[in-house]
Amino acid sequence: MAVAVYHHPGCALHDAGPGHPEAPGRILAVLEALAALPAVPLHAAQPASPDQLLAVHTADHLALLTATHAAGGGALDADTIMNAHSWDAMLGGVGAVLEAVGYAHAGQGHAFAAVRPPGHHASAGRAMGFCLVNNAVLAARRFQSLGRRRVLIVDWDVHHGNGTQALVEHDASVRFVSLHQSPWWPFTGAAGERGVGNVFNVPRPPGLAPEQYVRDLWLALEAATKDWTPEALVVSAGFDAMAGDPLGGFTLAPRHYRILTERLRERMPDVPIVGTLEGGYVPGRLAKGVAAHVLALG
Ligand SMILES: [Zn+2]
Repeated sequence: MAVAVYHHPGCALHDAGPGHPEAPGRILAVLEALAALPAVPLHAAQPASPDQLLAVHTADHLALLTATHAAGGGALDADTIMNAHSWDAMLGGVGAVLEAVGYAHAGQGHAFAAVRPPGHHASAGRAMGFCLVNNAVLAARRFQSLGRRRVLIVDWDVHHGNGTQALVEHDASVRFVSLHQSPWWPFTGAAGERGVGNVFNVPRPPGLAPEQYVRDLWLALEAATKDWTPEALVVSAGFDAMAGDPLGGFTLAPRHYRILTERLRERMPDVPIVGTLEGGYVPGRLAKGVAAHVLALG
């Protein structure tokens, strides 16, 4: 099984302004680290078309993004900001996600989409938390359109994937497992939020031993897949749960992403996996975490 990485050069041009943690240096560090890995091909994807966003998002949301882009950029909320290149970054990123799904679906191997802006806070009609559109749910819907009806989304970003949950919590064909810091922004993701029985939240305080985060996420994963076998797996792969991240207080190291990725492969050996980049705000550490995840996918 050969892992493939998909990216788009436009993702490095989206810039939310000086001092913003979701900065271009993140993706540059990730791509540099991935390019140095042996036997991991990097593919520049074709951008998605705007219409493809409608698989997940409302026409009103697309119209807002279109109008903001036409104005040369602007703030969608206090910390979700488009510049003149954000539209191309967004469509390039979605294109990379969709091509990653196509590769994994075809059975050649697993895939990773090295993209920004991230996606898991975006809901059907709203950009939020650095996220314009929801890459993970776009990936899930693409898998479903290819005939893989049951899709599991695992979100190990330190923040709750509130946008993802909102998009799937009424849809039993998708299951959502999320480990996240609590209480912490965006202040959702309580264990009692179960959707239609398809949501498995693991809220945890900061500062625990990394093995405990891994164990607790795994227990939720086992519960989610006990009597339900997914036909595809999407990982909302944030790396801001690593020790030292300025936007979280978890304690993971790159090896924990390797361990989690290996366990996912062992538990679901015939299930295609697509990882899509979410958070992680120390570029050098982020790059090491991504490399560990991608190597374990290969
Ligand atoms: Zn995050």
